[in-house]
Amino acid sequence: MLNITDLRAEIDGKEILKGLSLTVNAGEVHAIMGPNGAGKSTLGYVLGGRPGYDATGGSVTFGGADLLEMSAHARAAAGLFLGFQYPVEIPGISNVQFLREALNSQRRARGEAPLSGGEFLKLARAQADALGMDQEMLKRPVNVGFSGGEKKRNEMVQMGIIAPKLAILDETDSGLDIDALKAVGEGINRIMRAPDKAVLLITHYQRLLDYVQPDFVHVLEAGRITRTGGPELAHALEREGYGVVAA
Ligand code: ADP
Ligand code: MG
Ligand code: MG
Repeated sequence: MLNITDLRAEIDGKEILKGLSLTVNAGEVHAIMGPNGAGKSTLGYVLGGRPGYDATGGSVTFGGADLLEMSAHARAAAGLFLGFQYPVEIPGISNVQFLREALNSQRRARGEAPLSGGEFLKLARAQADALGMDQEMLKRPVNVGFSGGEKKRNEMVQMGIIAPKLAILDETDSGLDIDALKAVGEGINRIMRAPDKAVLLITHYQRLLDYVQPDFVHVLEAGRITRTGGPELAHALEREGYGVVAA
């Protein structure tokens, strides 16, 4: 599904990703852990096509296509979903309006018919119910005044509606209480644990991995994957720190 080979990227002339290689197959969940400033978020942004985060070397294919040649919108339409560490607030636009436009613009790009207001509302309500999110929150301006946990649940509702092939979730667990963490973990499993889907889970902590069992755990340090293992690697990192385990 995703093939990253020797990826290099710089921000403001400073090289952040320094030859990163990673293969993610359909059906797999990969966790990426690593110290602050290692380049984890940068990897997510480069893959998502965020302006200013351009690759300077290497290659990335997504479903066989050259991802780095695609616009951010084309990447999303092709099934790539990027969950942000700090979800954006959009005053004046309701959650339903925003989500419907996000979904329908992707459907149009794929040559599929957009969903009507009624069809979309049914889908959005079902996803909100599944996440335990109050239906009223669908009418509120996007993320405005939402608590950290509500923003993350909202992001899971968004992911459920968009139904991506590959979700890249950056510190989706940061600042969540136990109930929200559980809801988000269950949401990831329900929406993304399927033979034709995959997840790249960027996280600082083992605790989300108690809910979403990764098939592979990678350590990203100084712009490269320095170590790969199974779920036990995350436990070892939590116990011993990056310095000891990755050395
Ligand atoms: P991580 O997510 O692993 O904590 P980041 O990808 O956020 O790391 O950052 C990697 C490095 O890139 C850090 O040294 C950070 O200071 C730098 N960096 C990130 N964004 C910018 C930016 N917009 N301008 C300059 N440097 C940046
Ligand atoms: Mg960070
Ligand atoms: Mg980060």
